[in-house]
Amino acid sequence: MMDCTVVAPTVLDEVLALLASAGEDAVPVAGGVWVTLTLRHGLISPRLLVHLRRVPELGRMVVEPTGELVIGASITHRAVERSSLVRSHSPILAEMLAEVANVRVREQATLVGNLCEADPASDPPTVLAALGASVELLSRRGRRLVPVADFVLGAYQTARAPDELVTAIRVPPLPPRAGVAYLKFRTRSHEDRPALGVAAVVLPDDAGRIAAIDLVVGAAGDHPQRVPSVLEHARGLPLDEELVTVLASAYAGAVETVSDLRASAWYRREMVRVFVARALRLAAKRAGLYYQQGGSMDA
Ligand SMILES: Cc1cc2nc3c(=O)[nH]c(=O)nc-3n(C[C@H](O)[C@H](O)[C@H](O)COP(=O)(O)OP(=O)(O)OC[C@H]3O[C@@H](n4cnc5c(N)ncnc54)[C@H](O)[C@@H]3O)c2cc1C
Repeated sequence: MMDCTVVAPTVLDEVLALLASAGEDAVPVAGGVWVTLTLRHGLISPRLLVHLRRVPELGRMVVEPTGELVIGASITHRAVERSSLVRSHSPILAEMLAEVANVRVREQATLVGNLCEADPASDPPTVLAALGASVELLSRRGRRLVPVADFVLGAYQTARAPDELVTAIRVPPLPPRAGVAYLKFRTRSHEDRPALGVAAVVLPDDAGRIAAIDLVVGAAGDHPQRVPSVLEHARGLPLDEELVTVLASAYAGAVETVSDLRASAWYRREMVRVFVARALRLAAKRAGLYYQQGGSMDA
């Protein structure tokens, strides 16, 4: 194995200087879950491991005056899951993370590490994309914000340049009447990564019709997917069972699905139909949509 130096700076600028000078030879370490596994299997051979946990700015979790929830790069899944701030701002994040891996992994792994790893079989990118969250990137060249939907480019590929550090994830507040749901489908064990994940956001207008809607499918292909033309069709319509069926079928026809050890491409496509419908019904219920229309439906 190549010589590898391990450093744990306490100053953010020092981290940026190391990434600027070492480029792809430097690997930032958040929780270290992924880094440890890939090192052990000889899949990466960095010259420099830069631990982030000692940099105070990266441990911030706050709601800013703009209403944005800011989750710093060294915040663990478990800290997000248990945070009262998160539970009042974006409860779906806590709900989703409670279903990720097991408590031992969640105590160690971070949300930012999960996004940067960009494993297609992940839960957070799907939910964060549906919430309209952004990734904050910082380098000596400056700061930029990239929507989560554009950050994950494909399997293990992100929009991050080697000299950039992800400092935080920024989650905007949703309107109070919005209903949000995330459903995870596992095929192997309760602790497994998703074979499929569907996030739905539904905002009703005063007449009980759809003012805004988002649907993101994760773990079906190599990155989270939404189908804007299908969502466009739904705006202004009542979210009844007929529309749920139309949207679920359209998504099943449009998203890319892959075959792997968790499911075949065909089975995934069938499950997209089922889980898009279920996630929509649950989001609608949480938005009070069916109750306004006098109907009743179970997810
Ligand atoms: C048994 C097991 C089960 C799991 N189950 C699930 C599951 O059900 N769902 C799911 O979504 N995930 C699952 N995971 C993944 C887990 O949630 C972690 O998010 C993930 O492994 C990485 O988190 P980490 O903080 O340890 O990242 P690290 O290992 O520290 O880093 C991961 C990658 O991101 C880079 N990186 C980290 N921080 C930064 C930064 N600030 N800026 C730039 N680059 C950075 C690193 O260089 C590395 O390339 C599972 C993992 C295990 C081991």
